[in-house]
Amino acid sequence: MKNVEKKEVIGSNGKYWIFSNGDVLGPRGKLLKLTLMQIGYKMATLSLGNGIVKKRYVHELVALHFIGPIPSDKVINHIDGNKINNDVSNLEIISRENNGKEWARTNRRNPNKGNMKLLCDFGHEYTILSKGNKICYQCRKLTKEQKYKIQNINIKDFVPIKNAGQYLVASNGKVLSLNTSKVLRPGINKPGYKYYFLKNDNGKREVRAEHRLVYEHFIGELKDGYSVDHIDGDKLNNNSSNLRQISFGKNIASFQENKRKGDNYGFKYDKDYIAIAKWLIKQKFFSCMNSAARLSISRSLGRDLLYDLKWKHIDPEKPSDELIEKFKKDSLSQEFFKENKRAEAK
Ligand SMILES: [Zn+2]
Repeated sequence: MKNVEKKEVIGSNGKYWIFSNGDVLGPRGKLLKLTLMQIGYKMATLSLGNGIVKKRYVHELVALHFIGPIPSDKVINHIDGNKINNDVSNLEIISRENNGKEWARTNRRNPNKGNMKLLCDFGHEYTILSKGNKICYQCRKLTKEQKYKIQNINIKDFVPIKNAGQYLVASNGKVLSLNTSKVLRPGINKPGYKYYFLKNDNGKREVRAEHRLVYEHFIGELKDGYSVDHIDGDKLNNNSSNLRQISFGKNIASFQENKRKGDNYGFKYDKDYIAIAKWLIKQKFFSCMNSAARLSISRSLGRDLLYDLKWKHIDPEKPSDELIEKFKKDSLSQEFFKENKRAEAK
C-alpha cells in the first residue's frame, strides 16, 4: 500500500502541513475541518498570523506540494471525476481546454445547487426533516460498494477490529465504520498520536490509538515491556511498514532523538520514568547492568543515570513502595509504570 506523504505548507511557517491524501494538519496537531464549497471542491482556511487568513483549495495545495507549480495555461483535473478525492494519485495537470470538456461532462448531469452547510460528507444535498434533523437520501440509495468507491478504498484492505466488530482497520491506519460505510476522521491527542473513540462489542466507547490498532491487527501482539515505535519518527505515519515494537528503554532513546529533532511529544512522561529509574539505580539494589535490565533501559543509559552523565537536569525521584517491590522482584514494564502513575494521581 502506498505511503501518505506530508509536507509543510509553503509560506505557513510550519503552522500547516498538507498530506498527499488531501488531509490538512493545522496548529495544535489537529486535522483541519475542510469546507465543502458549492462548486464541489474542498477548501482549507489557513490562519497565517497577524490577522492574515488565506483560503486555499485542497486539490491546489496537494498538486502544488506533491506535483509542482501549475503553469498558468494548465489546470488540475480530478481523474475519477470525484472532486473530493484529493489524493495526489487522483490529480493530474491538464490543459484548460481539456478541463472544460471534462467539467461539462461531469457537471451537466449533476449541477450542485446546495448551500455548503447543507451538504453531506460526499457532497450531496441534505433533506431537512421537521425536527431540524437532516438526512441524505442520495447516500441512502448508495450501496456500500459505491460508498467505498467514492472514498477511494478497497474493502479487501481492511480487517475487523477485535472487540469492536462494527469497525475495520487497514494497514495504512484508516478506520472504517460498517454502520455508515465511512472512513472515520481521527482525533490527535496531546502526545501527537491519532486516535478514535470506538464502541466496543459491549456497546462501551473506548479510546483506541491508530498505531496500536495497526500494530495489533497487521503485525502481532505487543510484548510486555514493549511499545510501538514509529521508525521514521513521524507519529502520524501509521502505515504498518513504519511500525515496530521496541523495549521501553529503546523508546526513550528514540524519543530523545526526536526531541533533538525538535519534537517534544511524549517527553514529560519519559522525564517521570527517568527520574524514578535514576533513583532506583542509585540505590544500588543490584548491579548497574542488572538494574538497567529491570528498568528495560539500555546498559549505557543505566550507567549514564548512575553517574549523572546524561539527564543531569532531572533529579532522582523515589517511587511508590509498590513500584520498588515490583522492581526488586522482576522487571518493570511500561504498562506497569503507567498503571502506577495513574493510581498515584487518584
Ligand atoms: Zn450523501
